[in-house]
Amino acid sequence: MDFEKLMDLVDQGQEEVISYRRRFHEHPELSFQEVETRAFIQEKLQAWGIPCQRVAKTGLVGEIQGGLPGPTLALRADMDALPIQEETDLAFASKNPGVMHACGHDAHAANLLGVAKVLNQIKDQLPGRVKLIFQPAEEAGGGGREIVKSGLLDDVDLALGFHVWVAPEGKIRIQKGYTTAYSDAIGLDIYGKASHSSRPKEGVDALFISSKVLDHIYSLKDRLFNPQDQYTLSLGKIHGGQAINILPDHIHIDGMIRSMNPQVRQDLKEMVEKIVREIPQLYGGQGEFTFKEGYPSVYNDPSLQKIALDYLKNSLKNLIKDLNLGINSMSIQDYLMDDPGTELGAEDFGFYSQKVPSLFLWIGTGLGPQAHNNQFMINENCLVYMTRLMVSLSIQLLKTHEEERDEEN
Ligand SMILES: [Zn+2]
Ligand SMILES: [Zn+2]
Repeated sequence: MDFEKLMDLVDQGQEEVISYRRRFHEHPELSFQEVETRAFIQEKLQAWGIPCQRVAKTGLVGEIQGGLPGPTLALRADMDALPIQEETDLAFASKNPGVMHACGHDAHAANLLGVAKVLNQIKDQLPGRVKLIFQPAEEAGGGGREIVKSGLLDDVDLALGFHVWVAPEGKIRIQKGYTTAYSDAIGLDIYGKASHSSRPKEGVDALFISSKVLDHIYSLKDRLFNPQDQYTLSLGKIHGGQAINILPDHIHIDGMIRSMNPQVRQDLKEMVEKIVREIPQLYGGQGEFTFKEGYPSVYNDPSLQKIALDYLKNSLKNLIKDLNLGINSMSIQDYLMDDPGTELGAEDFGFYSQKVPSLFLWIGTGLGPQAHNNQFMINENCLVYMTRLMVSLSIQLLKTHEEERDEEN
């Protein structure tokens, strides 16, 4: 497939993709409520003759069978918005009060539609099969988990996903290994025995004990972990007590552990549990610990990452050609950020990367307020860039996977 022709096909769809994104932005829907969004996408796929079916509650999967032998690649876009009141002055700002596409999932869904159209147009020359996964509920509810549970990835060889990124337009974060954090919720219950404030010895002060527990937890980092073990342990909620003159018999604390590496995660969990169980006993109280698993860390398969990085080093000049992204002064090296992950955000694409070799890229869509801010915005000139990237990377990954298999046989 001639590269220039391919890029022409992408560019011809640019206005359409922008209009999809504006439509999604104007009509945002919360997790597992993406009914209109899905109906719109389904209508488009059917109009282009791409077979699709509804999955994972409010999700949709389309399928393009290439004309040449090859592996099965899953392309994933999430579709849900956030419970945030939009405060931008965009002409297509949210018409749904209190709901906003403040994480860029409108762009992800629009981009995947653009990719679907192009790949379908060239399917005769496509080496393999592409599953187009329009995933619900990334923000809340774990739509990624539902996708995996539904068996959609059972016959998939590799998966690719993009996320918009608050960074200079066009910059790509493409890291090897762990690239987002595990995010797990923890709960601490400290029990004592209530007593009057004038007679503390008759009770077991759960509030005092909590202060000892917190002291131990907050000093974990200094001596028990290595400087490169990236994690945060943040406690955001504390409840307890009834009156100013009664020492409380119960304190409840909620928080989150975010970690990149499964071993660090396990060590942290065990360490915090030990503190919560054992420290209260020193003072005659009791502690209970709960751990609620959140999203797993996204793991970028090293061989897929290398294929993509090598490809981008060679092709990025052509991929950004004639695009009005606002920056032209960076060298190709500056566009590609491949050093180890340092961001402790969570992404439910982690469920995919636990199941099949996966690659997740962050695409710079302009500087400004961070995601989940009520003024979050992307430079929509980047949409065509995302489509160019996803179309060409998909073909590259399918081809290389097939070539490697031929070599093995
Ligand atoms: Zn988000
Ligand atoms: Zn997101």
